[in-house]
Amino acid sequence: MRTPLVAANWKMHKTIPEARAYLERLLELVGREAGVEVVVIPSFTSLPAAAELLAGTPLGLGAQDAYPEPAGAYTGEVSVTQVADVGVHYVLCGHSERRNLFGEGDELVGRKVQAVVAHGITPILCVGETLDERRAGGVWKVVERQLERGVAGLNDNPRGLVIAYEPVWAIGTGVAAQPSDAQAMAARIRVWLRKRFGARGDRVRIQYGGSVNTDNAGGFLSLPDVDGALVGGASLDPDTFWAIARSAHR
Ligand code: PEP
Repeated sequence: MRTPLVAANWKMHKTIPEARAYLERLLELVGREAGVEVVVIPSFTSLPAAAELLAGTPLGLGAQDAYPEPAGAYTGEVSVTQVADVGVHYVLCGHSERRNLFGEGDELVGRKVQAVVAHGITPILCVGETLDERRAGGVWKVVERQLERGVAGLNDNPRGLVIAYEPVWAIGTGVAAQPSDAQAMAARIRVWLRKRFGARGDRVRIQYGGSVNTDNAGGFLSLPDVDGALVGGASLDPDTFWAIARSAHR
C-alpha cells in the first residue's frame, strides 16, 4: 500500500562533477525497476545539475533544507521557493544536524514543513531523540513533541508527508538501532498519525535512519511499519546505496 522510499542524504559532500558521476552510475544501476522509490538529496550547489540529469528518470530529487520565507534579507539561506524552482520533489525538514549543530527549534521546523507543503513538495520531517534524552527515559515525549510541532501548520490532510525516525545517537556512529526498537517506534508514530490525520495517517511513510548499511538494511526495510530508509554515510557510493535501496523491494 505504501511504496518504500529510500533516500540518500549526501550531507556536505561532493562537488558538481562528483555529483554527476554518481548520478550517471546510479541511473545505470536503477534501470526501470519499480517497487521502491529512490531519492537523492545532494548539496544545494549540485541541485541544478542533478535536476537536469534526473528529469524523466525514476529517481527523485530532494533538498537537505529550505528556509520558509519566500525571499528577503536572510544571508546564506535558500528558500523553499528557490528549491521548488530547481524542481525538487522532497525537502528534509529538521534533520538532527540542523537541530543540534545549527540550533533549529521545533517552531522553525514546523514553518519549514508548512512552506514545503504549500509549494506542493513533500517534506521529510526528521524526528528522533539524543542519547541523553534516551538515557533520561523520555524518548516518546521527545518524538511526540517534534511530531506535534513539526506538523502544527498542516490541516488534517498530510498529503505527501514523510516521517524519518532517526535516533540521533545512531546517526553517523555505526551503531544502528535494533530493528525491534525501530519497529516499535514506527508503530507508535503510526498510531499518532492516525490520531492526528485520521485514516489519511495510514498513507504517511515512515523511514528509519541511523547507520543503515548493506548488512542491516534488509532487517529494517522488512519491518511492517518501516516504509524506507534515510541513508547518510552509506549513500555516498552509488553501488552501495543501490544495494541498500534494493533490499526495500516488496
Ligand atoms: C542521516 O544523515 O540522516 C543519517 C542517517 O546518516 P548515517 O546513515 O550516516 O547514520
